Amino acid sequence: MSNYFDQLHKMPPVWCTSDDQICVMCAPSENMQDFGVYMYSYGDNTSYKKEYDMSALSTAKGSKPDWTMFFPMLSKCVSNNNVVLTKVPSEEKIKMNFTGPCGNTFGLEALVTTENMEEFIISRLMFTNQVFSHTKEIMAKDAQLEKEANTLKEQADGLDSELQALKDNIKRNEQQESISRKRLGELKKQWDTMETSVDDPWKVVKDRQTKECRRVNPLLDKKCKDFDKTLMQLIKSLYIPSDDARYKATDPCHSVVKPLSKAELAQKQKSLANDKFYGAILKNLEKIEEWAYSVSDIQCIMNGDDYASLPFQPKGGSLFVTLYALFFKLDLLRKFKIDEQLALNWISVVEAGYHGNPYHNSMHAADVLHIVSFILTKGGLIEKCQLKDEQVFSAVLAASIHDFEHPGINNNFHMKTSSYLATLYNDRSVLENLHVSSVFELMKNSEYNILSPLSDDQRRDVRELVIEMVLATDMGSHGKYVTMMKSKLQEHSDFLKKEDQFLALAMALKMADISNCGRPLDIYLKWSGKVSDEFYQQGDRERNLGLPCSPFMDRLQPSIAKGQISFMNYIIIPFFEQMSELLPALRFAVDLAEGNKAYWAQNDDS
Ligand code: AMP
Ligand code: ZN
Repeated sequence: MSNYFDQLHKMPPVWCTSDDQICVMCAPSENMQDFGVYMYSYGDNTSYKKEYDMSALSTAKGSKPDWTMFFPMLSKCVSNNNVVLTKVPSEEKIKMNFTGPCGNTFGLEALVTTENMEEFIISRLMFTNQVFSHTKEIMAKDAQLEKEANTLKEQADGLDSELQALKDNIKRNEQQESISRKRLGELKKQWDTMETSVDDPWKVVKDRQTKECRRVNPLLDKKCKDFDKTLMQLIKSLYIPSDDARYKATDPCHSVVKPLSKAELAQKQKSLANDKFYGAILKNLEKIEEWAYSVSDIQCIMNGDDYASLPFQPKGGSLFVTLYALFFKLDLLRKFKIDEQLALNWISVVEAGYHGNPYHNSMHAADVLHIVSFILTKGGLIEKCQLKDEQVFSAVLAASIHDFEHPGINNNFHMKTSSYLATLYNDRSVLENLHVSSVFELMKNSEYNILSPLSDDQRRDVRELVIEMVLATDMGSHGKYVTMMKSKLQEHSDFLKKEDQFLALAMALKMADISNCGRPLDIYLKWSGKVSDEFYQQGDRERNLGLPCSPFMDRLQPSIAKGQISFMNYIIIPFFEQMSELLPALRFAVDLAEGNKAYWAQNDDS
C-alpha cells in the first residue's frame, strides 16, 4: 500500500493529445489518494474523467507490470504515442489502451463528466511545472542557504563591531602612549640636568629607594609636587585662620604657609569671587560638608578636565585639594603635630601613586575621602561611636589610599591569570592588600612617613585600623561584613567597643566606596560611565587573552542598565538601608539610589 502511494506521489502527470484531438492526462487525483485519468475532446467539447483507487487500478492494469514499473511505463507509453483511444458514445465512455515497450497492454477508461477537463488539465500542468521548478527540497535548500547567509552576516556584523572596538582600543592606547612619551621626555630632560658621577644614574635612584623601601617612588626624583602656595593659604585659612584661638605660628602644621586672618580671607574671597581658579576652588569647597560636593568640578578647575589629566597632576588635583582641606577642617595636622611639608610630601606621593584609570584614579580616592568625612561628621559616626582622633585620622588616611596603585583590572582578573600579585597575596583580597602594603612600604622613607610624629602606640593603632578598613573594601567580602553588621544591629550594640568601632568605620569606607550610586543623578552618571569604561577595558584584555569576558565587561554586548539595576538591587539598596539603621542621617542616600535606579528603567542600553 505505502509503495503505491510513494509511487503515486512521485508521479508527474503524463499527458498526450490523440489523433482525434482528445487531450489526455494521467495524474494523481487532487486529494493525492487516487490515480486519475482526465480527457478533453476538442471535437465535441466533451470532458472525461475517472479516478481509480488502488484496487480499481489493479484491475485495470492486470497483473503486469508491477507498481514500481507501472508509472514510468505509463509515462513512456504516452511519450511514445502508444496510446489508442476508443470512443464508445453509447456508453458515454472513452477507453484507452496503452501498449508498453515490451508489448504488454493495459486499458483505462473515462466517463463523460460535466466538469470542464480542459481547464483542469491546463491548471494541473501549470501547477506541476511550478512544483518542478520549486520542489520542496529546493525550497528547503533555499531556506537553509538563507539561514547560513544570515548567520554569516551576523558573524560579519559581530566582527565589524569587534574590529571597531579594537580600533577604539588602539586609539586609546595611542593617546595613552603619547601622554607617557611626553612624560618620559620630561623625565629625561630632568634627568639630564641632574648631576651624577656614575655610569648608570637609574641605579642611583633605585639604590636610594631600595635602601629604605622596596617600592619605586611614584614621584621618581621628586619629594613633593609643586603645589600652589596661594591656594594652600586660602584653603588653610578657611578652617584655621591666624586669629583662631587654636592657631600658633610655630606649630609644625604651618611650616610651609601661614594662614590669613578671618578678615583678610573675607577680603580675598570677595576679590576672587569671579576668579576662575582660586575663586572657583573656594566656591566648591563651600560644599565640602554637603553630599553634593563634586570632586570632578575641582579636578576640572585644577587641571582642565576630569579624565586625561588624572595620571599627571604636577600641581595636584582633586585629591590634593580635598585631602589638604580635610586635614585642616578636621584639625588633624595640628592635633598630631604633623609638619606641613611632611603632609604635603605624603599627599604628593599618594596622589601620584594612583594610575590614570577611567575609574580607579585619584579622583575616585578624593570622592571616597569626601564621603567618609561626610559620614563621620554630618552622618553622625564620630558621635555615635565616640571616635577618638586617631580613629578619625585613620579613616582619612584609609580613604585616601584605599585604591592606591589600582591597575584598572579587578581581583578576579588577577586570579584567573595567576598574576604575580594573586600569587603574592594567595588570591586573598589581592588588590586591597596591594593598596595598603604599597603605601606602608613607601612610608618607610622618612620623608613620607606621615605617622612619624605619632607615639608608637598611636602608630600601631592607626596602622591596624587602616589595614582593617582598606581590606574591608574587597567586594568579595561584602556579604560577610553585612552579616556582621546585621547581628550587631540586632543585638543593639552601642558601637562603643573597639571591635564595633572598627566594624562601623569599615562599613563607612565601604559605603563611601560605592556611594556614587546614591549621589545626585549628574554625579552618579559620571561615575557609572567611568566604571563601565574600566569594566570594558578589562573585557577587552580578557578577549585579547582568549578568556571569556566577565559579566557586564563585554563592550560588544552592552548592558550598563541591567548591570546598574542589579548592583542597586542586590548590593546598594540593602546596604544603604542597613547603614541608615546605624546612622539615620544617611537615609536620604537610599532614596537617591532608588531614583538613580529608576533612571535606568527608562534608559536601557542593552
Ligand atoms: P573599589 O575597587 O575599592 O572601588 O571597590 C568598589 C567596587 O564596587 C568597584 O571595583 C566596582 O566593581 C564596584 N562599583 C562601584 N561603583 C559601581 C557602579 N556604579 N556600578 C557597578 N559597580 C560599581
Ligand atoms: Zn574604591
